[in-house]
Amino acid sequence: MLKHQPIRIVVMLTVIALLTVFLVWNISFYWVLFPVFLWLVLIVVGSFHVRWNYFLPMLHRNAEKVNSIAISFDDGPHPEFTPKVLQLLKQHQAQATFFCIGEKMLDYPDLAQQIIAEGHCIGNHTYSHDRTIGFWTKVKVERDLEKALVAGQVVLGKKMRLFRPAFGVTNPNIAKATQQLQLQTIGWSHRTYDTTKRSKERIVSRLEKRIRAGDIVLLHDTSEKSVAVLEQLLLMIKKKNWKAVTVSQLLDIKAYD
Ligand SMILES: [Zn+2]
Repeated sequence: MLKHQPIRIVVMLTVIALLTVFLVWNISFYWVLFPVFLWLVLIVVGSFHVRWNYFLPMLHRNAEKVNSIAISFDDGPHPEFTPKVLQLLKQHQAQATFFCIGEKMLDYPDLAQQIIAEGHCIGNHTYSHDRTIGFWTKVKVERDLEKALVAGQVVLGKKMRLFRPAFGVTNPNIAKATQQLQLQTIGWSHRTYDTTKRSKERIVSRLEKRIRAGDIVLLHDTSEKSVAVLEQLLLMIKKKNWKAVTVSQLLDIKAYD
């Protein structure tokens, strides 16, 4: 797997070598710029591909769990859809993980508390879920994640350990902030694209084809379509005789400190 730090060293050494060649043999300067260009492309692509683990170690699935699957919901709690999700999960005796936005947790503390009371698990999904987070300094990211931790402490009386990056975006500043706050970053192995224009039928048929035991599935408790997809997913899980567990159970890690 490609990693940011070693690649940076390789790029630097290559540029130094090419600069020497440029000075001695007068080759085109484009040769010196070429590795820098490739490196910038890698940074941009790596920022958006959580499964690359380019900037920070992230957990995406656990292949050893042959009868389990972890369903995760981002961006809640939502006053309309989180109760519907909770109802469905209860009906199917399924557990799940909710990566909540800190600000929304403070807006709907009863929902966040209900999530925990019903045996599910809650993780940090930033305080503000700001679209520009990828451009923030390390200090600003850290403050935002810390604010979400405080929200969790106030509403749940727990210190959350699990973190899912907003928009799936990672970079060196986000990596350093999570390290500083000792958060474990959680990715996914199956993204449903439930917030895009894809139809429920298309999402469900893709799930049916690709889903494997040990997967972490990414959904959002923010729309009627996602609730409908969840219902089909729970039926799929039942048919396969799998168990829907929390991310911490799937990965055998602590959800809180
Ligand atoms: Zn999100």
